[in-house]
Amino acid sequence: MELSSSLASERLYAEELDRKDDLASFRERFSLIPGAVYMDGNSLGLCPRDAEKAIAGTVEEWKGLGIRGWMEGNPPWFEMAERVGGDAAPLVGADPDEVVLAGTTTVNLHALVSTFYEPTPERSVILADELNFPSDLYALGSQVALRGFDPDKSLRLAGSPDERTLDEEKVIGEMKPDVCLVVLPSVLYRSGQLLDMERLAMAAHDRGIPIGFDCAHSAGAIPHRLSEWGVDFAFWCSYKYMNSGPGSPAFLYVNRRHFGRMPALAGWFGYDKARQFDMNIEFVPAGTAGAWQISSPSILGSASVRGALRVTLEAGIDSIRAKSLAMTSFFMRLVDEFLSREPYNFRIGTPREPERRGGHVALEHPTEALRINEALIARGVIPDFRPPQVIRIAPIALYNTFTEVWQVAMHLKGIIDNREYEKFSKVRKAVS
Ligand SMILES: *Cc1c(COP(=O)(O)O)cnc(C)c1O
Repeated sequence: MELSSSLASERLYAEELDRKDDLASFRERFSLIPGAVYMDGNSLGLCPRDAEKAIAGTVEEWKGLGIRGWMEGNPPWFEMAERVGGDAAPLVGADPDEVVLAGTTTVNLHALVSTFYEPTPERSVILADELNFPSDLYALGSQVALRGFDPDKSLRLAGSPDERTLDEEKVIGEMKPDVCLVVLPSVLYRSGQLLDMERLAMAAHDRGIPIGFDCAHSAGAIPHRLSEWGVDFAFWCSYKYMNSGPGSPAFLYVNRRHFGRMPALAGWFGYDKARQFDMNIEFVPAGTAGAWQISSPSILGSASVRGALRVTLEAGIDSIRAKSLAMTSFFMRLVDEFLSREPYNFRIGTPREPERRGGHVALEHPTEALRINEALIARGVIPDFRPPQVIRIAPIALYNTFTEVWQVAMHLKGIIDNREYEKFSKVRKAVS
């Protein structure tokens, strides 16, 4: 009784935080799902009205201009990828010409790694980590095999001491003389740990190794200083914290000291822009990150990214990060204080230090995470589940409220108090 009244009384505190929230007005800029408490913006951000409008505008351009849209669109479609890349550059601490909107995440990994992976018989190892997003590991393994090396030997995965987090010191310890490339995530997709990218980049460069980061779980959520840290390359999607819609075009970053290098996977959109339409048969790469584009960009997809980006830039990445940390801190405190003991037994798998975590919280339950996730969905909360025992809760600074964070905690309590999870199947669905 005591316990329940005190979690319930946290509502007042949540409402106070909402009243003081500088970003509160941004919630109206999104299409919220009626009746839902959406906590899955780290997988797919909600639809910003600006994105919807931008897509509609581009459809009108297509209808009215046809092929002329490539030069007469606003902005000209021909320049869209570089323009949107330049607009996004401040989010990652890059110059405008170091970022381009192109392809999709895993494809960009291939485009970049095929260029920056220069194996020799003595030095053929790509260093990644065992907690990495599987798609990245599949892609890295295939890059190793493509060069005639054995992924079992030449794709090295730094281990985790606790199956949740990586110890940067140990990762650095794996940067041995046979390593010729390091590819790591900025934020681990399951536990939400934020790696010290600056320290890892410095250590790699001390050993003469280039380093790239997958920033899918940090772009739009956390400020970066990729150029200052000397990161060689990076890539990220736009549909998570950047709210650009399912399968929307991704971004890639190449540090300007690599400009002029020949991209390993060439295509005509990576050609020097001024001369692309000369249609020469010899490839001349653009002198920017644009060289790593391959094909015509999706202009409808780019419109969505452009519209969505406007909202993020208006709010400011530092304000977004500050509110995100306040929300995740609040949630972790509620779990620790009210939901960590019998019969609840929840545990936080995310590092506590603000500088070591991204935008979501890994909520763990020792036995029933899958079914508790289902019970949350039945109650109108939308989180996601990652095996074996993690429910990811991502309160998004641009559109979630502190009251919603409190509601999630109340739902978790109710689900356990009533043993509601017992109604659900132990078999996981195809997309969770
Ligand atoms: C979401 C995510 C991806 C997604 O890859 P796609 O190619 O866009 O399907 C890749 N890597 C990481 C770390 C991710 O979180």
